[in-house]
Amino acid sequence: MHIYKELFIGGRWTAPSGNDTIDVISPHNQEIIGQVPSATEADVDAAVSAARSSFDAGVWSRKPVGERLATLLRLHELYERRVDEFAELQTGEMGAPITFSKTVTSVSPLFTLGTFLDVAKNMQWEELRPGVSGLDIIVRREPVGVVAAIVPWNAQQFTLMTKLAPALIAGCSIIIKPAPETPLDTNLLADLIREAGVPDGVVSVLPAGREVGEYLVSHPGVDKVSFTGSTAAGRKIASICGQQLKRFSLELGGKSAAIILDDADLESTVAGLKFASLANNGQMCVAQTRILAPQTRYAEVVDAIGEMMSSLVVGDPFDPATEVGPLVAQRQQDRVNGYIRLGQEEGARLVMGGTDTIAGQERGWYVQPTLFADVRNNMRIAREEIFGPVLSVIPYGDEEEAVNLANDSEYGLSGSVWTADNDRGVDIGRRVRTGTFSVNSGMMDLKAPFGGFKSSGIGRELGIEGLHSYIEYKSITPTPAPLDE
Ligand code: NAD
Repeated sequence: MHIYKELFIGGRWTAPSGNDTIDVISPHNQEIIGQVPSATEADVDAAVSAARSSFDAGVWSRKPVGERLATLLRLHELYERRVDEFAELQTGEMGAPITFSKTVTSVSPLFTLGTFLDVAKNMQWEELRPGVSGLDIIVRREPVGVVAAIVPWNAQQFTLMTKLAPALIAGCSIIIKPAPETPLDTNLLADLIREAGVPDGVVSVLPAGREVGEYLVSHPGVDKVSFTGSTAAGRKIASICGQQLKRFSLELGGKSAAIILDDADLESTVAGLKFASLANNGQMCVAQTRILAPQTRYAEVVDAIGEMMSSLVVGDPFDPATEVGPLVAQRQQDRVNGYIRLGQEEGARLVMGGTDTIAGQERGWYVQPTLFADVRNNMRIAREEIFGPVLSVIPYGDEEEAVNLANDSEYGLSGSVWTADNDRGVDIGRRVRTGTFSVNSGMMDLKAPFGGFKSSGIGRELGIEGLHSYIEYKSITPTPAPLDE
């Protein structure tokens, strides 16, 4: 049991201003596994004040970059030693299978931090640019200021590190608001941030719900909001930031298409889709949930995916054999089951799965891996993000139609193509309007920008672009030559 009585405000464990607490509940058996104080608006005020003072005093923001990088390298070392603990906390809090937590969600934050430290080595923070006036203009890259980082419960450490690492490298102070379902791993990270030697004031962690999150977004002391979560919340946050002319970046939902071409090797395609579409119990923003299959091979594709999904081991997320664990919360279970019912009402063919409970797992928030065939792209199950282990197979005629179907979506986060011909796949990637795209995998690269077209977001994380997201440009013109010269 992980019990916290204090909040991490301005780099110190501090008594909370209120008495409310958040119970962290195991999605597997509904047992309480931890408790943290629920941050209030007064705690937000305290965290913003600490962040503002530290930023304005320059204890971190004006530290030589080399010193900031050295501190973050220490954080990297400390994180590496605790990586298994992060994996276990994430599995306990949100139900991700332990093999996934150990091989993906606990190590990806570490790789992300390491990659940003590498990318930052080549960053020019100040340059002299010959101006049209003949003067050398000083072009500076300065930290954007106090950042509010709001993250969801899925892949929460990775999502957080895509914000924390570049913000701290740039010299920002940062207030993190984890989702109320998953505060424990972020509290562990807070300890490491302190141990690494990040100065007081620079980092705060405020577990809370959306109201307090909105108060943080609106706070006049915050310069930039970096948000990952649902498109609905993203719209709200963007409108507040728009009113206040605050900088913001949004990483939102997706409804990504996997285009299976007529020349694809089905065995390796289906093995790849097991990860690309269903990892993390289907709770991934980049999940490839619309499977576009050529009419010429339609029945074969449906059978192969159905067979793969029937073989999935569903159960206790701490069991290393488990491939699909429970969903994060009852509201998520209800939501996903609602979509499974809706798919049937809309006329899609239920190939496997459904809304029945899973024998032996009645206390957990499980849903059955579910496959729909004969889905039309205008059905709600093909248009809305379900966020669970539910896939839809949609038939297409020719390649042109496949690309059109992939693009016929409110979202534009990710996509993939499965083919024996890499060049053909890359060409299709150029035509699909999404922020990331992969050929024969669901992979993304930490050195490349990540983010969404359309309603999947605004701005980019990762890569050099992810570092730029925490930077303001400043141009300083030096003294002009006297007029009579
Ligand atoms: P959510 O939007 O309900 O909540 C996300 C976070 O925002 C939580 O911390 C929540 O407390 C907070 N929040 C919600 N409304 C807020 C508001 N009005 N003001 C301030 N804070 C607010 O999303 P969720 O259900 O926790 O997460 C799942 C969603 O996140 C999915 O849509 C998924 O696609 C998306 N996601 C996107 C990415 C990406 O990189 N594009 C990555 C992971 C998850």
